[in-house]
Amino acid sequence: MNTTKAYSAASATSPLSLDTIQRRDTTERDVRIEILYCGICHSDLHTVRNEWSSVMPTTYPCVPGHEIVGRVTKVGAGVTRFKPGELVGVGCLVDSDQSCPHCRANVEQFCSEAVFTYNSPDKHLGGVTYGGYSENIVVDEQFVLRVPANLDLAGVAPLLCAGITTYSPIRRWGDIKGKKVGVVGLGGLGHMGVKFARAFGAQVVVFTTSPGKKEDALRLGAHEVIISTNAEEMKKHAGSFDFILDTIAAEHDINAYLGMLGLDGNITLVGAPEKPLAVSAFALLFGRKSISGSLIGGIQETQEMLDFCGKHNITADVEIIPIQQVNEAYARMVKSDVKYRFSIDMASLKSE
Ligand code: NAP
Ligand code: ZN
Repeated sequence: MNTTKAYSAASATSPLSLDTIQRRDTTERDVRIEILYCGICHSDLHTVRNEWSSVMPTTYPCVPGHEIVGRVTKVGAGVTRFKPGELVGVGCLVDSDQSCPHCRANVEQFCSEAVFTYNSPDKHLGGVTYGGYSENIVVDEQFVLRVPANLDLAGVAPLLCAGITTYSPIRRWGDIKGKKVGVVGLGGLGHMGVKFARAFGAQVVVFTTSPGKKEDALRLGAHEVIISTNAEEMKKHAGSFDFILDTIAAEHDINAYLGMLGLDGNITLVGAPEKPLAVSAFALLFGRKSISGSLIGGIQETQEMLDFCGKHNITADVEIIPIQQVNEAYARMVKSDVKYRFSIDMASLKSE
């Protein structure tokens, strides 16, 4: 075992602070990775504060972080796909049974044995898995991704969750070229949703509660921006969307967005608010509309997304912070004040 520095939360009400954790020695199939950057996802905050207690209660200490980019430092004897020195990524998944129908269909995220990067049972060391707010991580090579060499690493890290979580439902919806696509919430996920929807040729409209993000939304690729708190602006677009991606992290009125959809329109939720959303049956019946959900993406699709980003030069827009500012970053995330993802420079942990 190896002792590693990390930032952890001791309880739902504690700030994140310096801690030490154990990482396993590399087994036959493992890759050991020195973490260079780790994105801050709103799921990190939900988990640290135990906001998903009814579905996935948090075990403490909790070391979050599932948007990991780093360099391979060691590989097990049976590892064939990676060598020390290579740049790699790790997202939300670090293991699954790799034999069930979901794994065979390349949607390991739905495997009943899926192991998430943090707060999942750790079958090697006991306790729970610890995420990327740490110096290094040891991961089965099947769950390690290749990172395109041409991209900025701080901006690549968020692709491992915010990227795949928006790429996957957009691809799944079908050919969005020329379709009117809405992205609700311009945060970490939302700004990636805008980039992908635009890259696939959609007519992209952002719904935001933050008037100050309007210019950025257009720069990121939106054709139009709607301030969702302005009833007049909302009314103008009623019934006109083919597909809407809802990334909101908090309670909100989903019926307002169902009203934006046209016949057979679909809204896909990727945001995971703590409390249930109330849905009006009538908002679905009239117009034969549907609501779906989507959870990250499988490993194969995550690699496809990274390769797509490499080819089209797509990364997240990041604010790079030292790990010592992580609690401040959380406070800003709650206030929707992120442009548009925090990426932690993990070199800052070495100096502690
Ligand atoms: P984020 O960066 O905090 O962005 C969320 C955005 O939602 C905010 O920037 C804000 O955008 C909008 N928003 C926040 N509170 C709101 C409110 N009360 N009413 C209306 N809009 C509000 O968060 P994120 O990292 O993108 O994550 C978004 C959600 O997706 C979280 O719940 C997260 O846990 C979840 N998630 C799900 C998956 C998955 O696999 N399904 C993966 C990753 C994350 P504006 O300022 O533009 O209004
Ligand atoms: Zn995430």
